[in-house]
Amino acid sequence: MTFDELGLSKPILRAVSALGYNTPTPVQAQAIPLVLAGADVVAAAQTGTGKTAAFTLPLMQRIGRGKGVPLALVVTPTRELAVQIERVAAIIAKETDQRVTVAVGGVKYRPQANRIKSGIDLLVATPGRLIDLVEHGNVSLASVQALVLDEADRMLDMGFWPSMRRILGFLPDVRQTLLFSATLDEAITQLIDGVLHDPVYVEIARQGTTVEQLEQAVLPVEQSQKPELLAALVRQRGADRVLVFTKMKNRADFVKTILDRDGLRVTCIHANRSQQQRERALSRFRSGRIDILVATDIIARGIDISDIDHVINYDVPENPEDYVHRIGRTARAGASGYAFTLLGPDELTQFREIEYFLGQQVPVLDIEDFPYREGRIIPFAGRPVKKRSHSVYGGSITRRGRRR
Ligand code: AMP
Repeated sequence: MTFDELGLSKPILRAVSALGYNTPTPVQAQAIPLVLAGADVVAAAQTGTGKTAAFTLPLMQRIGRGKGVPLALVVTPTRELAVQIERVAAIIAKETDQRVTVAVGGVKYRPQANRIKSGIDLLVATPGRLIDLVEHGNVSLASVQALVLDEADRMLDMGFWPSMRRILGFLPDVRQTLLFSATLDEAITQLIDGVLHDPVYVEIARQGTTVEQLEQAVLPVEQSQKPELLAALVRQRGADRVLVFTKMKNRADFVKTILDRDGLRVTCIHANRSQQQRERALSRFRSGRIDILVATDIIARGIDISDIDHVINYDVPENPEDYVHRIGRTARAGASGYAFTLLGPDELTQFREIEYFLGQQVPVLDIEDFPYREGRIIPFAGRPVKKRSHSVYGGSITRRGRRR
C-alpha cells in the first residue's frame, strides 16, 4: 500500500513528502479512505501508530480553505498533544495554503484569540481554553464540518466529559466525527453511541496489546532502594533517550534530583510546572540537549518524542492503561525499545492487574542481574537483559527485594 493509492490530492501528497513519510502505517491505510469518504470513524489506535496523520491528512483535504472560521476542530486532553498535532497540521497547511492554529490553556489568551480572528481553517484545542474562546465570542464553531476527539479515553479519565458536552453544543449536529482512543472500554462505547453517527471501526491494536519490538522487564526492589537502582540502571543501560515515569509530582522532582546528583543531564515535566517550563523541557529533550526526562502520567499519553530507548517506571502506574501508554513511548514506528518497571513490594497487586490487562506476564530481572548490591554498584559487564520465563507470581519478590 502506498499513499498514492489512498485517494489523497496532490498538495496533500506533497505534504506527506514534507512530513517524510514513505509508506502509510496501518491506521493511516485504513482510516484515510474512510475519512475522505465522509464516514464517522472510531479508531482504536495508540499514539505511535501514526494516528495524527491518519486524521489530519484526509480532513484537511476535505475541508479545503474556507472563509476564515474553523471548518475542522480537533480536541485533545493535553496541551502538549494539541501543540504536537498543530505542528503536523502546520506542515500540511504549508502545502495546501490552509491556516491552522492551536488554542490551549496556560499561555496568553489574547494572541490566540487574535490569531483565530485573523482567519483559520483548522483549530486544535484543549477543552477549557476552547470553551473560554467560544463564550467570549472569539471563535464560532457553527461552521465546523468535522470534529476529531483525540485520546477520548484520556479525556474521560481526566474528567473532560462535561466540557466536551458543552463543546458539542456549539457544533452543528450534521458533521463528521472521528474518535481516537487507545482503549475501547464501556465508557468509550457509550460516548461513541451518543456522539458518532453509524461509525466505521478501525482497530489497530487490540486492547492491552503492546508494541512488538518492546522488551519489558520488572525489577523487584524495596522502595528505599529505588533511587540507587534507578541511577545504576540508567548508567548501565546508557543514559541516553531515557524517559522516567513517576506517580506523583513531588516524586518526579525527587527523581530528577537523584539523577542530577549523579551528574546526568536530566529535566522533569509535570502539572506543577508552567506551560513554558514544560515546553522548554520537552524541546530540550527532543533536541538531545537533555538525555533523561522525568515525567508524571500527564504526558504519558500523546507525547511524540522519537528515539526513546528506555522507559523506566520508577513507580507502577495506578491504571493498567497508563502502563500501556507509558511503555508506548518507546519502540515507536518499528524501532526497538526497553521498558523497565521498578516494582516495590507494596505495588505487587497493582502490577498483577497490569499483567492481567496485558494478558501476559512480564519477565522479571533477577536480583543477581541487578546492577547493584550491598549499596555498591556491580556492573553488568555488558550482559544483555536476560529474559526469564517466571513472572512476579510466586511471591518470592518480597524476599528478594528485602535482601540486603
Ligand atoms: P502519532 O501516532 O501520530 O503520534 O505518530 C507517531 C510517530 O510516527 C510520529 O513521529 C510520526 O512522525 C511518525 N509517523 C507517522 N506516520 C508515519 C509514516 N507513514 N511513516 C513514518 N513515520 C510515520
